[in-house]
Amino acid sequence: MPSIFLAHGSPMLLDDGHWVRELHTWAGNLPRPTAVLMLSAHWEDRPVTLGATEAVPLVYDFYGFPAKYYDVRYPAPGAPALAASVRGLLGGDAVADAPDRGLDHGAYVPLKAMYPDADIPVLQASLPTLDPAALYDLGRQLRPLRDEGVLIVGSGFITHNLRVLDWHGVAPTPAWASEFDQWTAEAVARGDIDALLDYRERAPGVRMALPTHEHFAPLLVTMGAAEAGTEPVSFPITGFAMSTMTKRSVQIG
Ligand code: ZN
Repeated sequence: MPSIFLAHGSPMLLDDGHWVRELHTWAGNLPRPTAVLMLSAHWEDRPVTLGATEAVPLVYDFYGFPAKYYDVRYPAPGAPALAASVRGLLGGDAVADAPDRGLDHGAYVPLKAMYPDADIPVLQASLPTLDPAALYDLGRQLRPLRDEGVLIVGSGFITHNLRVLDWHGVAPTPAWASEFDQWTAEAVARGDIDALLDYRERAPGVRMALPTHEHFAPLLVTMGAAEAGTEPVSFPITGFAMSTMTKRSVQIG
């Protein structure tokens, strides 16, 4: 099973037929997962915290959107067996539980596009840190789950600057966003983990591309979960674009 990183987008992306079809096609070309382990930019909690293992309400962690976006449902089965596997891999003391915590929009929006029947068990886990090396190591610890058919998903954005985003979506992508995005893509394609772990120092445009780092963090988990440098990489999503939030998504393995 590959590990993937995807650009999740806002709840309104579920109205973007092109994006939904692309994600659905991507999912259809993957082996069917036994379960999905989701790490989204929208949940940081230390230590690694496991969300609900049975179906509970979604977390509508966005404000001021039209009412229909708060009526979206995604009643995927919980994944208690996966939770036990994660606990086994990380060590029981390193894991906390949040049994009432449902999927946030970084998790359920792309899953609704990928697996609209909500018939694959899903477990969301928190990001316990924004430290690049620790995130990569977390991914490495989770890597064996791929052999059990678990799809490990990092959900964020390569670039994420809401402060200067053109909400009407007509502005071109600024050079700093393109350059950061391209730098990252090339580092991923080379399997250059040293560069990726040092992205805050080395990547062009990083201060504008990532005023905060939580949206990039899931990529480092995805890279850890993959066997970098030994497997092909593809970037299958070409759909939606927002000027300061590049749409690049990554599949490794
Ligand atoms: Zn987000």
